[in-house]
Amino acid sequence: MAMPEAKKSAPVEQRKYVFSFMEGDGKNKHLLGGKGANLCEMTQIGLNVPPGFVISTEACLAYLNHPEHKLPPGLMDEVKEQIERIETATGKKFGDPANPLLVSVRSGSALSMPGMMDTILNLGLNGDTLRGLVRQTGNERFCYDAYRRFIQLFGKVALGVTDEKFDEEFEAVKHAAGVKADIGLNADNLSDISQRFLKVVKDNTGRDFPEDVFEQLEIAIKAVFNSWMGKRAVDYRREFKITPAMANGTAVNIVTMVFGNMGNDCATGVGFTRDPGTGENVMFGEYLVNAQGEDVVAGIRTPKPVAELATEMPEMYRQLETLRSKLEKHYREVQDFEYTIEKQTLYCLQTRNGKMNATAMVRTSVEMANDGLISREEALLRIKPELLEQLLYPRLDPHHKAVPLAQGLPASPGAASGHCVFDADRAESLGRAGEKVILVREETKPEDIHGFFASQGILTSRGGKTSHAAVVARGMGKPCVAGAEGISVDVKLRQAVIGEKVLHEGDYITIDGGTGKVYQGVIPTVDPDFSKELKTLLEWADQTARLKVFANADTPRAAKRAVEFGAMGIGLCRTERMFNAVERLPIVIDMILANTTEERQVALDRLLPIQRQDFREVFEVMSPRPVTVRLLDPPIHEFLPNEEDVVAELQHLEHLKTTIDGVNNLFGNLRLLAAEDEMKHPYPAPFTHSGADLVRQAIAKKERMLKKIKELHEVNPMLGHRGVRLGLTYPEIYKMQIQAILEAAAECQLNGLEVHPEIMVPQVCTVIELQHVKEYVDALREKIEREKGIRLQFKFGSMIEVVRACMKAESLARVAEFFSFGTNDLTQATFSFSREDAENKFLPLYQQKDILHHNPFEVLDTGGVGKLMEITVEWGRRSRPDLKIGICGEQGGHPESIKFCHHIGLDYVSCSGPRVPIARLAAAHAKLGEKNYSPQ
Ligand code: PEP
Ligand code: MG
Repeated sequence: MAMPEAKKSAPVEQRKYVFSFMEGDGKNKHLLGGKGANLCEMTQIGLNVPPGFVISTEACLAYLNHPEHKLPPGLMDEVKEQIERIETATGKKFGDPANPLLVSVRSGSALSMPGMMDTILNLGLNGDTLRGLVRQTGNERFCYDAYRRFIQLFGKVALGVTDEKFDEEFEAVKHAAGVKADIGLNADNLSDISQRFLKVVKDNTGRDFPEDVFEQLEIAIKAVFNSWMGKRAVDYRREFKITPAMANGTAVNIVTMVFGNMGNDCATGVGFTRDPGTGENVMFGEYLVNAQGEDVVAGIRTPKPVAELATEMPEMYRQLETLRSKLEKHYREVQDFEYTIEKQTLYCLQTRNGKMNATAMVRTSVEMANDGLISREEALLRIKPELLEQLLYPRLDPHHKAVPLAQGLPASPGAASGHCVFDADRAESLGRAGEKVILVREETKPEDIHGFFASQGILTSRGGKTSHAAVVARGMGKPCVAGAEGISVDVKLRQAVIGEKVLHEGDYITIDGGTGKVYQGVIPTVDPDFSKELKTLLEWADQTARLKVFANADTPRAAKRAVEFGAMGIGLCRTERMFNAVERLPIVIDMILANTTEERQVALDRLLPIQRQDFREVFEVMSPRPVTVRLLDPPIHEFLPNEEDVVAELQHLEHLKTTIDGVNNLFGNLRLLAAEDEMKHPYPAPFTHSGADLVRQAIAKKERMLKKIKELHEVNPMLGHRGVRLGLTYPEIYKMQIQAILEAAAECQLNGLEVHPEIMVPQVCTVIELQHVKEYVDALREKIEREKGIRLQFKFGSMIEVVRACMKAESLARVAEFFSFGTNDLTQATFSFSREDAENKFLPLYQQKDILHHNPFEVLDTGGVGKLMEITVEWGRRSRPDLKIGICGEQGGHPESIKFCHHIGLDYVSCSGPRVPIARLAAAHAKLGEKNYSPQ
């Protein structure tokens, strides 16, 4: 049976492949490519763009899909039609020796792919048009220069002749003419080069260089289409994961050539509509008279600042100013644009959003909003919260070229240089003497705190981003690199070894807490910049956001800084940090060494006024904002030194005791042997009886300490005797703290200050724990109210950092008036990852292999920890609908995590002081993006 004849398809309406700049849709980058769409938009808003047209990406795909790679039917007719339009617009004619039209041909896909294909310039030149151009311009040198450029570019891009072949000929002519720079070549030399180039093409392609201008154009169009499947472009798309949905095929842009190098009434330049370094609202840029665009960037001649154009070509400068304001009015963003002046006519060749540093981004966004060019919301959304980090901390000079010595975790941002020192005492004494030091330790403990105060920054070889060093440094706003495991610190030898390198005490190092890099020597830094525009932007953010932003701050000084950063309260005051000051630690140690409640009470009685004073100062600084004070949390052994250190000290003391006994013995013998008058001198001070007594006392104390350290030793202290468990076994510690908080509040109230303390209990897992502490609070409240004759205003609440607390949220909320998620511990508990070790042991590999997309100690794990939080919020508010809920773990300062906190209905986030501005902006972003938000 005969097969039915295939139905002839009805003639489809001819698809349109070619669009003039006047008609192309400036928004359709997919069809016209980014460059093409932009040229259409620029033309249609009335900028003087040289006339031209775009061949669509659909034409490219049709060509590539054709088995023989043929241009779609009718395409070249459309092209010819467009060329005619250009001819009408310019009065020039393509291929006409009398008044030749020249064009450029370049590729352009929906996504910019730098380096994909070079542009072909001056297409339309041949033997005839060249002579015509010479006649017309009277500038032979310019014409031959244009010709030789065209032959080489066309030869290379469209015909595949390598650059070297051309370069050899070029150099030969230069050599023969005795010329060093291209600019020294005269018209004859350039004519000679052009002839040689034509021969290079013939020798390498086996055919003459095409003279027919439409043939040139067709070959060039096909070359652009072919380049889409060329190795360079395919590799680029693979590398940058550019899918067909993002960019499919390339468009071809054909634009009338304009020349900035036809004489001294011509110029070319690049400009920014505002200063990209400072954001100042002035035109910024450079230009060159009698030059081509590439000369400005090539750096062969030094361009002049654009301000000079005002005197050199006043009318052109005026037009440039008009162009600047047109660009900003239309694009509503700072533009980075290119222009050419050809015989007193200004052409705009390209414009795109300008890349700026953070200072300029903030200033231009605020000023544009103030000028009504954009809305405040747009100004806010334009700035990525993380970008503000540049403005809040000192940074390494971005131009430095130093190679890092070691890499650790970026634990607290900012950069600092100083002499390295390996113990806190040394840091303190050098710091007091005015030296800049970096404290380098294996890890830090509360007893190192004085070293923190004296140092510019902290470097540790162990521990993660929630280690003691990291958290304390962040709180103080000092840079910290933690867990740089390549460094081995030897305190005794006062040195650190990094690979082959040995750093001795006193050597200069620089740390960058934003990247975790450690450098040898001093690297210059750039200061932070909390400008008035940044302040304005953040005020707008506060007016927009629903979430409040609090700070984690432990001292009056940190509280003051937090207020400067715009904190609306303190979300976490870790009271143990108040114990860390040099003069307080011995009292805390006495409290720990106490064997009876009475002995402990003596130490607590000494701590009470100190804590009360601290709280009062913090309340005063923060008034009338809330201050959440957390009762003692860490295992108390953390306040004691290391067991090995105490053992070593005991050994030294024993040696000292033996020496003193020996010297005493010696003196005794000498006294027996010597005549009376020869033994008049008393013993040297340390060898008197009181010296010996001192040593004996020191030994006794150290022995008690050692015993206590052994008693307190726990295999898993982070899961052990800490938090509320400590508060229930040593109720007198919590009672002292509660009394200090309430008395401080009472003093403030009596002085007419509005204060809102919030007492927070850590590590809670059952409501009964909370009830016990509440009983202490109630009893003390009653006593203090009675004594002072006032009613105290405060809240009582619980941290939520234990999985069971999440599950029991409904019952906890019956006692707690607020919850604060301690997501450092909650993350540790949810993953069963040690927060001290995970970050420099296996988390990097987990992230590398995409087992986890983020470090959950940095970015909230919304799928796991976040789920627990969501349940907790819902259940907690079931029993107390107005339950105030916040987050105070480190994730509370991370923009993505803040979006999630907004989404699940938290009231506030709390983070380290210097991150507060970032969090304020992120909170505004969370609000503005809430409709489109879905947790990842
Ligand atoms: C937490 O666990 O998230 C928290 C804020 O407490 P800390 O880091 O002091 O354990
Ligand atoms: Mg905790």
